[in-house]
Amino acid sequence: ETEPLICIGCGAQIQTTDPDSPGYTPKGALAKGMETGELYCQRCFRLRHYNEIQPVSVSDDEFLNLLSQIGTTNSLVVYVVDIFDVNGSLIPGLQRFVGDNPVLVVGNKVDLLPASFKPKKVKDWLRQMVNRAGIRPVGVELVSARTNQSVDDLLKVINQNARNRDVYVVGVTNVGKSTLINQIIHQSSGEEQVITTSKFPGTTLDLIKIPLDNGHDLVDTPGIIHASQMAHYLNSHDLKYVSPQKRIKPRSYQLNAEQTLFLGALGRFDYVSGTKAGFTVYVDNNLMIHRTKLENADAFFEKHAGELLTPPVGAENVIPLQRHEFKVTDTSDLVIEGLGWITVPKGSVVSGWAPKGVAVLIRKSMF
Ligand code: GDP
Repeated sequence: ETEPLICIGCGAQIQTTDPDSPGYTPKGALAKGMETGELYCQRCFRLRHYNEIQPVSVSDDEFLNLLSQIGTTNSLVVYVVDIFDVNGSLIPGLQRFVGDNPVLVVGNKVDLLPASFKPKKVKDWLRQMVNRAGIRPVGVELVSARTNQSVDDLLKVINQNARNRDVYVVGVTNVGKSTLINQIIHQSSGEEQVITTSKFPGTTLDLIKIPLDNGHDLVDTPGIIHASQMAHYLNSHDLKYVSPQKRIKPRSYQLNAEQTLFLGALGRFDYVSGTKAGFTVYVDNNLMIHRTKLENADAFFEKHAGELLTPPVGAENVIPLQRHEFKVTDTSDLVIEGLGWITVPKGSVVSGWAPKGVAVLIRKSMF
């Protein structure tokens, strides 16, 4: 038995298999580190040498431990969500864990929304979404970490709300928290080495600190993996259809009752009953949408999934879809978590299909 190798930066156990988990070190770097006796995980190495943070994720338990420790501090909590996947960004019990500390909600990836979106309306909508999850935010901001849109406004709002407190940034994986923090670092760094690290007692992972104008720190925390994200069910080739890279061009369809839309072979939407109406689909622009009759839909999927209907590519990669039916009283969005959403008129019955484990739900319409 050999002793586990430990990163001298953060104390995480060194591993060479999962780049997204603590302690990841490429095999080559491991050999070199053993030689020199300076063994850093990839994340700490980049942090030391490039002042750049990489995303890292932890288990639910570790994450909840971190969150409840935030509750013992006097701080502002900045909660980052993916505006394209709000449901997949929710952290159950967040408000309870952070105690009396104020929460500022940041909707990231607004560059994906259609150009015509009304920021005020989307902010109000996002506030309602997080209210439902038990969070009472002191503010809601919309940004794009990728294009840098409104990141300077966000920094102003953070500074206003932080007063004499530290700021903790939290979020599940994939919401763009690391990209956002790297933007903040670039905006706030005149000199090199703006970053320092610290640990909460009883945790192994380093927390990354960036100095703020108020003399306190902005602290990055690891992301938690949200198990029901569509991303976990797909290989990297298929994944690119799920997380849109470009501004979404909504696609509209006039549907009669008993018509079906396939979203590749990853999702399916049935208009079960209601009068002829318009439906708008918000998914990645490259995802193929195919219309059929509801009565033929099962057989169509059976025959064409993986071939005409992609992604996934290849019949052997096709995942069976599960059906979820809804009676809709108000104009709503039917959400297939991680894949996108379809607007649904009031007074209709619809069903949404997704791989088992991927949430399908009805929410108040975003637009
Ligand atoms: P983290 O796990 O929350 O730290 O997320 P990352 O910063 O690693 O980002 C996850 C994915 O979202 C990456 O593919 C990023 O390129 C992408 N991403 C991050 N911010 C934005 C954004 O503002 N707009 C868009 N379109 N994509 C983003």
